[in-house]
Amino acid sequence: MPETVDRDAIRAAARAQRLATCKHWRGALAQPPCGAGVDLVERVGPRRMVGWALRIPCCTAPDPAFLCEGKDAPTAEEDEASECDMHESFGCVLAVMAAIPADKTITHGEVPCPKCAGPVCWERSPVNGHVRAACAAGCVSFIQ
Ligand SMILES: [Zn+2]
Repeated sequence: MPETVDRDAIRAAARAQRLATCKHWRGALAQPPCGAGVDLVERVGPRRMVGWALRIPCCTAPDPAFLCEGKDAPTAEEDEASECDMHESFGCVLAVMAAIPADKTITHGEVPCPKCAGPVCWERSPVNGHVRAACAAGCVSFIQ
């Protein structure tokens, strides 16, 4: 029997994770301090310590080493706005990709920006066909 994927449950879990994650968290590999000036390595210990990620207060740690005075998790409204921005950005990338000629012999050019209508300069690698593009005004940029 095929396994059923519960997309709503996955989205809900991802949302709960985002709502519990501090805005100042820059990732486990970022050099301290975090965006709020808290040095996690100093307060929790070296990252190579077993279970380190389970002891940092920035996310959903079951056993945080300390209660962070700088923790600032996004509100539901901020999370919603951030999700909308992400969907809009992804839509821009798809629109630019659709506007770039499919003919692989064309290696560079300009297409209109879906956001500001200014030029999006693009080029295709002659080696592997990857495309990189960027709007002159900074609305959209990507390497595909
Ligand atoms: Zn633009």
